[in-house]
Amino acid sequence: MPLHGKTALVTGASRGIGRAVAIRLASDGANVAINFAGNLEKAQEVKAIIEANGGNAMLVQCDVSDFNAVEQMIKQITDNWKSIDILINNAGITRDALLLRMKPDDFDAVINTNLKGVFNCTKLVSKQMLKQRSGRIVNMSSVVALEGNAGQTNYAAAKAGIIGFTKSAARELAPRGITVNAVAPGFIETDMTNAIPDEIKHSTADKIPVGRLGRTEDIANAVAFLVSDQADYITGQVLAVDGGLAM
Ligand code: NAP
Repeated sequence: MPLHGKTALVTGASRGIGRAVAIRLASDGANVAINFAGNLEKAQEVKAIIEANGGNAMLVQCDVSDFNAVEQMIKQITDNWKSIDILINNAGITRDALLLRMKPDDFDAVINTNLKGVFNCTKLVSKQMLKQRSGRIVNMSSVVALEGNAGQTNYAAAKAGIIGFTKSAARELAPRGITVNAVAPGFIETDMTNAIPDEIKHSTADKIPVGRLGRTEDIANAVAFLVSDQADYITGQVLAVDGGLAM
């Protein structure tokens, strides 16, 4: 139980990667706050799985792009568990379109959820971590931030912004015992990628050196390492977990 006694907040934990991360951190002993935007049923399912495995979880519904709502969410968690030791900024959306067809609202929505959400949660949680003089923050970027992707100018900008944010926050917070790293997943099978036609999935898999699409557990394993004591001396890094896609 490497995370016994620690408290973790995982944003976007009702589905996909966040769900796998929440379940993994709880199985490593952490109390887990499951954040979600609107999908209560799916969030309850994650809480039930954690509790059935003997772990502790609470549900915290909040739109991460809303600073005041995030402030309330952090208060709810610290009122309940007194500390926040681990923050996983995972909540994210896509609104894909080619540049000339992309609506300004779709650009704003993706930046607000994927990038401003990271700012909101990190600013407010790091205040608590600074008092504790320790903490672990992991931000979900994407290989798209490293390589670009047609149809995703909004998403790639947000995910590349997360990398600059991660490195800057890592420099600010390192002297106070807080590490900040990013994970850049490749193509992971979740609701986000389900809409992609099978033939594109197959051709993508052909380009991945390990020969398969990623599983949510592949990302959860990397996150579990970065928040563990084993990663004490790692900060400001971007770890691609992509089967070799973006090397
Ligand atoms: P997903 O299956 O679509 O799940 C998205 C999660 O984010 C859900 O729990 C959703 O909550 C939550 N969410 C969305 N907007 C939110 C908001 N404004 N406030 C709070 N929560 C919000 O996505 P995924 O594929 O697991 O992706 C997770 C993260 O990994 C994202 O940041 C994504 O960009 C990144 N990523 C994914 C891939 C991939 O191949 N899947 C690759 C690279 C990076 P509700 O259930 O309530 O809607």
